[in-house]
Amino acid sequence: MTSQPDMLGKYHIQTVLGKGAMGIVYLGLDPDIDRKVAIKVLHPHLCEGEAGQDFVRRFRREAQAAARSFHSNIVTVFELGKHGNTDFIVMEYVEGEELQDAINCNYRFSEDEVIFIVSSILKALAAAHAQGIIHRDIKPANILLTDDGNVKVADFGVAKLNSFDQTMQGSAVGTPSYMSPESLKGQAVTHLTDIYSVGAIMLQLLTGERIKADKLYPLKLAEFMTESLNGDRGLKISPKLRALVSQAMSEDANSRPETALSFYQQLEKLSTDNAVSFQCDDETQQKLVSVLAAYVGPIAPMLLKNALLKAKTTEALANILSQSVDDSEESEELLEQVQKIVKKISFSNDHSMNNSQLLICDAATQEKLLAVLRPFLGPISPVLIKKGLLHARDHQSLLATLASAINDDKESQEFLLEARQLFC
Ligand code: ATP
Ligand code: MG
Repeated sequence: MTSQPDMLGKYHIQTVLGKGAMGIVYLGLDPDIDRKVAIKVLHPHLCEGEAGQDFVRRFRREAQAAARSFHSNIVTVFELGKHGNTDFIVMEYVEGEELQDAINCNYRFSEDEVIFIVSSILKALAAAHAQGIIHRDIKPANILLTDDGNVKVADFGVAKLNSFDQTMQGSAVGTPSYMSPESLKGQAVTHLTDIYSVGAIMLQLLTGERIKADKLYPLKLAEFMTESLNGDRGLKISPKLRALVSQAMSEDANSRPETALSFYQQLEKLSTDNAVSFQCDDETQQKLVSVLAAYVGPIAPMLLKNALLKAKTTEALANILSQSVDDSEESEELLEQVQKIVKKISFSNDHSMNNSQLLICDAATQEKLLAVLRPFLGPISPVLIKKGLLHARDHQSLLATLASAINDDKESQEFLLEARQLFC
């Protein structure tokens, strides 16, 4: 099929969404329920001859398997259709952009954002692996960031061409940067292949580095890992996350996290470790500064600010502050005073956690906010808004979080000015 068809089965074809190695993806309309769908049609040349027939059979079999995976992080397959000689697959239409687009915009992901995105991918994989489905082509172009801030994995269970097939057929060779060593070598793949690819995506989001052809043939994975983890950005990754990335990208499949679920659980643990578990209001900060100033003088505000950035718990905050004083008796005394003040914070935080309502932001305002943020941050914007809404208690804190993701100070201010108007 070369030109755009008007219909495929019962579906009205509206436009081309994109083209990949396997085929063309159209935007279609299901007239029965007036729902938009995405329809992937295989390239005709892939279906020719005996090998083509075999490929189509595999395509149908795997799409049927994928259709059984229902998960909020997986692009749902609705139907497998045939129109004349054309096989097509009907999927949930996802409004959003690819993770690859966010990478192309040179967006610098924070550890927290990487954990959020990768956790979503791992949840999708855990569900699919439980059904015996291996993705085999986990890469940023197959990860969709939806307009409502969700992360969805596309092309589950769709039969994959390997690079050898693609070269033979003369179509574009997909990037092997995310392919596990075993799949590069043409060996049998297991669910651990997907886990490797997740590791490769994670490393790229954290460092900006992707394994290039000169390190792939022959494979110099260890050299690539050492270089990227010891580069400027690599060295800033927290040690536990570094260890997890290295483990996921182990050349030996059996050294990787055993399952997508265990990988996800390890990441979740890191995200709780990273989370600030208390809020220190202005009044409490002032009290802490005046107590601290009696021991350390005018540097008290700076010490407090630094301690607040480091401490994950009120106990840790008290410990860090008490260590600012050399004299052990004075340090003990300070610790006691700080503990008294922070005890009140823990109490009022627990109290407010139970009774507080997190920020409620209606869909229309969220959409407007997205329109303001997108020009600054591109495809990652919906994910940041969704994440921000999970934690923000008020508009100011939401906007401050979003503004802090914009690197350029002037642009960050510009965003704040515009966004504040939405909440006037
Ligand atoms: P590959 O063929 O290696 O998977 P690819 O992922 O870029 O490469 P396709 O999967 O064919 O290619 O997708 C082509 C385009 O269609 C991409 O831009 C993708 O974002 C878009 N697309 C695919 N599935 C959907 C969907 N369910 N909803 C909306 N857009 C989609
Ligand atoms: Mg794809």
